Amino acid sequence: MPRFEDYVEQVRELWDSRWLTNRGPKHEELRRALAEKLDSPHAVLYANGHLALESLIDVFELSGEVITTPFTFASTTHALVRKGITPVFADILHDDYTLDPAQIEALITPKTSAIMPVHVYGTLADVDAIQAIADRHGLRVIYDAAHAFGVTRAGTSSASFGDASMFSFHATKVFHTIEGGAAFVKDERLVRPLLEDQNFGITGPESVHAVGGNAKMNEFSAIMGLLNLRDFDDEVARRAEAVTKYRERLTGVPGIYLVPEQTGIAANHAYMPVRFVADEFGTDRDTVFAALAADGIHARKYFYPLVSDFECYEGRFDRAATPVAREVATQVLTLPLYADLDADQVDRICDVILACERRAP
Ligand SMILES: *Cc1c(COP(=O)(O)O)cnc(C)c1O
Repeated sequence: MPRFEDYVEQVRELWDSRWLTNRGPKHEELRRALAEKLDSPHAVLYANGHLALESLIDVFELSGEVITTPFTFASTTHALVRKGITPVFADILHDDYTLDPAQIEALITPKTSAIMPVHVYGTLADVDAIQAIADRHGLRVIYDAAHAFGVTRAGTSSASFGDASMFSFHATKVFHTIEGGAAFVKDERLVRPLLEDQNFGITGPESVHAVGGNAKMNEFSAIMGLLNLRDFDDEVARRAEAVTKYRERLTGVPGIYLVPEQTGIAANHAYMPVRFVADEFGTDRDTVFAALAADGIHARKYFYPLVSDFECYEGRFDRAATPVAREVATQVLTLPLYADLDADQVDRICDVILACERRAP
């Protein structure tokens, strides 16, 4: 949270102007600031990340099948299905849980229109390999970059890979606007259709050009974003300290697997995923989860169950098609991670985890 007084001071301006939404001055200020921060000029802000993703699917006129990962939040898959598209799941890499490029090509059919990878936990997918496949087959690449705000590779922003990227600014994300999101597109000509898609297709006081929905970000959210953006680098730096401490305590423990640090990449430390392999650790993920909960520590089974196992998709997908994702979903926990988490708290969390070693469920 930003300083309360700073928020109130800016909200007072809204009381004076009575301009609460419809792309007011705060919205415009945030849009410009984000385009600069993410070093990518064509930004459209949204009421949330999910609607940004649906809007991108509309504007890129995706159809038929889209190759994507089942190891993600419900939103990625739901957006495709809600837009009448068949998600085709490719498996993930065993070490960093992003889409495995080697699995993609065999799944391409004449109906495939795009690849939708996820930079899961803020770990960049193999953008070069994925782009090469897309180029060979004339496919779009739309990234679910909900976790990857502020991540850069050799100075290149996570917003600039593929044809487009979606970011989520939900309250639980590393940068947030309470609820909110953004779409970044490479091609400037797509900005106007995105704006139409998120505001009823209205193009002027007497003209409605497209059958759009409503997904605009309001001024209160934009203010939250402006203040959090100011604090973002400090937030990431403080999270990095907690991550370093976690790594010191958990690296090398048999049966505990951490995502390797990506070389040449400035991370945002959005999450602290840890995988427990029961055969080696002697205790399974669920037992560790329960032990943490008993101590008042809220880890998350993020992501479990796998999207393809959701009850709403029963009978729809081949559950055996992505064995790596399926296994990882039963082994992974994301541990508490936020700027105020100090070294003593990380120690306490790790003490509880390590005390689980070889403990019967
Ligand atoms: C949070 C999230 C979304 C959805 O974003 P909202 O802003 O909550 O709508 C989509 N994909 C992933 C991977 C997410 O974590």
